[in-house]
Amino acid sequence: LVERMRAFGTTIFSEMSALAVRTGAVNLGQGFPDSDGPAEMIAAAGEALNSGANQYPPLPGIPALRAAITAHEQRFWGLTRDPDSQVVVTAGATEAIAASILALCEAGDEVVCFQPYYDSYAAAITLAGAVRRPVTLRPGADGRYHFDEAELRAAFGPRTRLLLLNSPHNPTGKVFTADELALIAELCHRHGVYAVTDEVYEHLVYTDAETPHIPLATLPGMADRTVRISSAGKSFSCTGWKVGWATGPAPLVSATLRVKQFLTFVNAAPFQPAVAVALGLPDSYFTEFRDVLQARRDRLVEGLRDAGFGVLPSAGTYYVTADITPLGGADGAEFCRAMPQRYGVVAVPTQVFYDDRDAGRHLIRFAFCKREHVIDEAVRRLRAPA
Ligand code: PMP
Ligand code: GLN
Repeated sequence: LVERMRAFGTTIFSEMSALAVRTGAVNLGQGFPDSDGPAEMIAAAGEALNSGANQYPPLPGIPALRAAITAHEQRFWGLTRDPDSQVVVTAGATEAIAASILALCEAGDEVVCFQPYYDSYAAAITLAGAVRRPVTLRPGADGRYHFDEAELRAAFGPRTRLLLLNSPHNPTGKVFTADELALIAELCHRHGVYAVTDEVYEHLVYTDAETPHIPLATLPGMADRTVRISSAGKSFSCTGWKVGWATGPAPLVSATLRVKQFLTFVNAAPFQPAVAVALGLPDSYFTEFRDVLQARRDRLVEGLRDAGFGVLPSAGTYYVTADITPLGGADGAEFCRAMPQRYGVVAVPTQVFYDDRDAGRHLIRFAFCKREHVIDEAVRRLRAPA
């Protein structure tokens, strides 16, 4: 293994899912739903499979999917893009993240991101030979995560090439506010920096959030310097299909495509028309989906509180963060390794998403994208430790 990848072990998600399988614990670790997405979408994939859509699709994705991606962006976020030059379909958001970073960063360039961060960010930045400049999100007195303006300003410098932003944010459930985004946009403009935004949870912002989801690309001047990434996995409960996309100005999208063609070339043909169908579902699908997840969040949050965890508010995503100190825990990694024995439940230690592990040492992440009876069983077990 090359020197620069040696610090990266197996991803925490695979490790914790394997632990759940081995021990029979309820898996609230890795974020994947335990029920299928919309029936129309599943049916469309079956039809595509049975009607010969089984060879290489066009490199940037099939036209129907690219058209559906731009129509969806227009409908929900008011962004207008050309489906032929400003969209690329990828193997999940993960490939879009890696390809855009590899396409835009020279070795030694710096990427400003927020920690905790989704684990593939550090690896993709490292593969590019670039350097991450993490800015820490910390829970404030209100329990919500905040960053320090001076710390963000100081992270930008002459070598900054990219700003990488995830909102709604995994693992904290934070949704970045208009003011926070305005500051980020100002710094991108001032330093001539491109943005890559990971918005895979764009439809999962709960009704009690202090802000709706605002794509950074919708701020003045930002559409021209932002690669916006999303994925079907989280919005349509099909994480195993690995259909994602990136949209943005033609030069940035074509740079991303240049790299992407040598990572995977193209992606699973029969899922593409199916995701096009899903993206065209009426608004009611998206609000009902959010409402279902919100009810699951509330169910889990209440159960975690009853079990004695400190619970930080989650305004979006599939996740909620719990503080283990009230239960006598100090180190989330140790705590999570012992959880199958003690509780019969698996969660993920938040510290693995930080460069500065101390900042998240006492925090663990639970996924609530599970059926009610699964959440109830997990809560029953958490209330009655061995
Ligand atoms: N970004 C974030 C913030 C995620 O939580 C995930 C996991 N769904 C991904 C990217 C990867 O998405 P995909 O499975 O579409 O590659
Ligand atoms: N995004 C999911 C999570 O955060 C898992 C993705 C993965 O396993 N790579 O749990």
